[in-house]
Amino acid sequence: MKKVNFGAGPSILPQEVMKATAEACVDFEGLGLSLMEISHRSKEFQKVMDDAQALFKELLQIPEGYSVLFLGGGASLEFAMVPYNYLEHKVAYLNTGVWATKAQKEARLFGEVVEVASSADKNFTYVPKNFEVPADADYLHITTNNTIYGTELLRDIDSPVPLIADMSSDILSRPVDVSKYTMIYGGAQKNLSMAGVTFVIVKDDSLGKVSRQIPTMLDYRTHIKKGSMFNTPPVVPIYSALQTLKWIKSQGGVEAMDKRAAERAEILYNEIDRNKLFRGTAEAADRSRMNICFVMNDEYRELEQEFLAFALERGMWGIKGHRDVGGFRASCYNAMPVEGVKALVETMKAFENR
Ligand SMILES: *Cc1c(COP(=O)(O)O)cnc(C)c1O
Repeated sequence: MKKVNFGAGPSILPQEVMKATAEACVDFEGLGLSLMEISHRSKEFQKVMDDAQALFKELLQIPEGYSVLFLGGGASLEFAMVPYNYLEHKVAYLNTGVWATKAQKEARLFGEVVEVASSADKNFTYVPKNFEVPADADYLHITTNNTIYGTELLRDIDSPVPLIADMSSDILSRPVDVSKYTMIYGGAQKNLSMAGVTFVIVKDDSLGKVSRQIPTMLDYRTHIKKGSMFNTPPVVPIYSALQTLKWIKSQGGVEAMDKRAAERAEILYNEIDRNKLFRGTAEAADRSRMNICFVMNDEYRELEQEFLAFALERGMWGIKGHRDVGGFRASCYNAMPVEGVKALVETMKAFENR
């Protein structure tokens, strides 16, 4: 039986994307060579890079003056690269979960970090509002979707200082006003590609303002100058990202992704709220559309393992919650069809009726 992949990352990708990538690894667009064995400087690969950058810009309507980069090291390396490139004296971090905490920890190596607000008091079940950002901070760092806890900041906030966002787990799931951000980054393995590539959207003139020396590879200017080809980039994951970008365009762009995300979330949260066995863990106003977290209601707690086994038997893959939250997490990234969520809802109903 075909499985429905609710895994949190690496995660579901459109079938077309995986097929095209597999094909390119055998015979790259009829060249008689594999994508894995040709030079990244070949005109054939250069076109992949150019197309991926151009399509990213088109889909997110990225304004002039920004560059799109495809780097290695994951979002985790960006946690260090961001302060390396931007922190001179003091920066501000909003703490909404484990990833946000890790990002902040790296910044502390470079200077003063002000935690403007934190939802750690309630196990990150909400996104703090009404926090104050020091006017003299070099930037404010936020995490727009908290993959582990299932909370999401669904709008582009106004920040009095340059805004930098980790969008690892909700990139391309809605239109974003990129002009409000100085920099956006994320690991590609949730909404965009296979593991191995990091996307970076960076405002060119925001760089070069810190006094420290920056190692060549960690300096965003190096990668901007060289069109994201300073060194050998992760060619296969970039090809795969291009296929996803093409797929998103063919489906109607980020507006279509946005509509689908809203539809999936409504269907699944409605069932979580209706079904007496389950309850959601995140505060209703901050519920993520990408990672839908829920647990067994207290009186049914002992049924947790049974439900996991029941769901798996019905092809529901990867719904075990993160150990920090427990219960279940249904990750519903861009490639998740509405039918996948409906199948999970049927499973929840069948378990309740049993
Ligand atoms: C998965 C994830 C990360 C970590 O990404 P890596 O590419 O594995 O370093 C960081 N931030 C968020 C929000 C994530 O979901």
